Amino acid sequence: MLEKSMQAYKEALQVIPGGVDSPVRAFKSVGGVPPFIDRGEGAFIYDIDGNSYIDYVQSWGPLIFGHADKETLDAVCNQAQKGLSFGAPTLIETELAKEIVELFDNIDKIRFVSSGTEAVMSAIRLARGYTGRDDIVKFEGCYHGHSDSLLVSAGSGAATFGNPSSPGVPADFTKHTLLARYNDLESVKKCFEASDNIACVIIEPIAGNMGLVPAEEDFLVGLRKLCDEYGALLIFDEVMSGFRASLKGAQAFTSVVPDMVTFGKVIGGGMPVGAFGARAEIMAHLSPEGPVYQAGTLSGNPVAMAAGLSVIRRLKANPELYNVLEARAKGLVGGFQKIAQAHGVPLQVDVRGSMFGFFFNENPVKNFDDAKRSDLEFFAKFHQEMIKRGVYFACSQFEAGFICEPLDEKLIDMTLEKIEEALKKIV
Ligand code: PMP
Repeated sequence: MLEKSMQAYKEALQVIPGGVDSPVRAFKSVGGVPPFIDRGEGAFIYDIDGNSYIDYVQSWGPLIFGHADKETLDAVCNQAQKGLSFGAPTLIETELAKEIVELFDNIDKIRFVSSGTEAVMSAIRLARGYTGRDDIVKFEGCYHGHSDSLLVSAGSGAATFGNPSSPGVPADFTKHTLLARYNDLESVKKCFEASDNIACVIIEPIAGNMGLVPAEEDFLVGLRKLCDEYGALLIFDEVMSGFRASLKGAQAFTSVVPDMVTFGKVIGGGMPVGAFGARAEIMAHLSPEGPVYQAGTLSGNPVAMAAGLSVIRRLKANPELYNVLEARAKGLVGGFQKIAQAHGVPLQVDVRGSMFGFFFNENPVKNFDDAKRSDLEFFAKFHQEMIKRGVYFACSQFEAGFICEPLDEKLIDMTLEKIEEALKKIV
């Protein structure tokens, strides 16, 4: 069934470490061979063995209109014909910046980069440059990319591999990173008591890298107060949730207004993009306006900008889409919960817009410790059975799922049938 993928994996292993260019793709935590993907169309991906899968990963979030979406492809092809990269200003960067800035009262200016990692790394540097302080607070289980100072008790692949602080990151580089517990304000207070040098608190306001764990409103309100009291900046890392949970990302779900926001993925429609934004007074510290250096040969790449502009304009023209996708996500996890209950399988579920999550866990999941108490062995078996049945969920318990526009109710019902079959087999 996965013979060609098996062969491809063996060949990849010869020339690429672990056979993959990003660790989670290797399926290490669920076992089995990762299907090698040939192409995607709408809600489906197709591997080189000819198997098809209903895809709940969608390139880890960006493809809100699904794979090989015609309008996005047209935008990309039209732009590509004019040239792939100039390393000089283009109109399209300003157009996309305007579209985004217009949506947020707290973002006057935005700078584009090429990945989420870069967006967060640059935002942190700017926060440090702006405040003149060195320390940062991050939360256990939140993932903010793989830059050195943020690779401390990180979620996503780093969580899956039980390898939170990576070799190769000098202790000196992470000594300015203070760790707090998600949804636990006391733990943040302790950080502020321990250091009078905190530049910023960075949080995934809708965590997607320990599974889906939204921050509670009281907690976010408390964070805002603490940051104000101590003169630290509050950064929402919306690389995953931005334009995914809603048109305004997590900001539609909370009254709390962050000082800075990072974006990625979705604003590139599947092309490599990241961005960070804040009010003008903060952004003025960025080079060449100010002294905080940040740069990139491919930053604001015109082809990526074209994909992003097309996607963001369509989303802004049809914000109702988020309600439609949320209803489908609720249909999926609600149905899953009923099936799980019938089989005596403990399951926790949650939804934020087109993002969903599920944990094989008896208790509600509020932080990374709770998430880690999920039944990871059961998850692995479940994942394997779903792959065999043509449903592609993220290959780790510590990841979120995504509904794209072409993934309709019929496909959700089909998925629920496969879930029923899988649980029958493994319980
Ligand atoms: N921040 C968050 C919240 C993310 O989810 C991710 C990636 N999933 C990143 C940062 C890093 O983004 P990238 O993989 O594009 O570097």
